[in-house]
Amino acid sequence: MPSVTAAVGFDLDMTLIDSRPGIRAAYRALTEQTGVYVDADLAVSRLGPPLRTELGHWFPPEQVEEAVTTYRELYPEYAITPTVPMPGAVEALAAVRDMGLRVVVVTSKLGRLAHLHLEHLGLVADELAGDLFAEGKATALVEHGVRWYVGDHVADMVAARTARVPGIGVATGPCSPDDLWAAGASSVLKDLDGLPALLREIAVGSGPAA
Ligand SMILES: [Mg+2]
Repeated sequence: MPSVTAAVGFDLDMTLIDSRPGIRAAYRALTEQTGVYVDADLAVSRLGPPLRTELGHWFPPEQVEEAVTTYRELYPEYAITPTVPMPGAVEALAAVRDMGLRVVVVTSKLGRLAHLHLEHLGLVADELAGDLFAEGKATALVEHGVRWYVGDHVADMVAARTARVPGIGVATGPCSPDDLWAAGASSVLKDLDGLPALLREIAVGSGPAA
């Protein structure tokens, strides 16, 4: 296998982007279309797990797949424009590139929907892998040369551990710093503003980037 330039991996929702306004709008549109109530505020307070898991709280089991399809049809129209970058996200990606590292986004969101967010916000990823969660993210992390994985959810720390790379927790989502430490984070940041300095510190002595 050819060696790839080392990368910093990022989760998407609540790590690089604050998608709560967009996802809230998409859930409300889903309720409007299906007549099935989804508490959109509650749903956006616990982003991270797969869409199916959330919809399983609201729809009868035999209707979940159809609800997934409908939600994904509504998503581009409702969820993209209201979504904004998390504080420090733009600067963090720039810092990764300045260090000669690649940016890899690995998310539970469907790849094509994740791509719409990145494109709309002008966030550039060298690689994007979607529809992956927790341990399921590990193969993509290894495959794309991810040396550190940054995420807001305990499941992201599980992904990093499974891939045997340090997990960097950011406490900008539903999980507290204590949750992230307990899930095996090697560092925990309040937000991405602290990432460039942390990377400069931990990347020193970890060998050449390639
Ligand atoms: Mg997340």
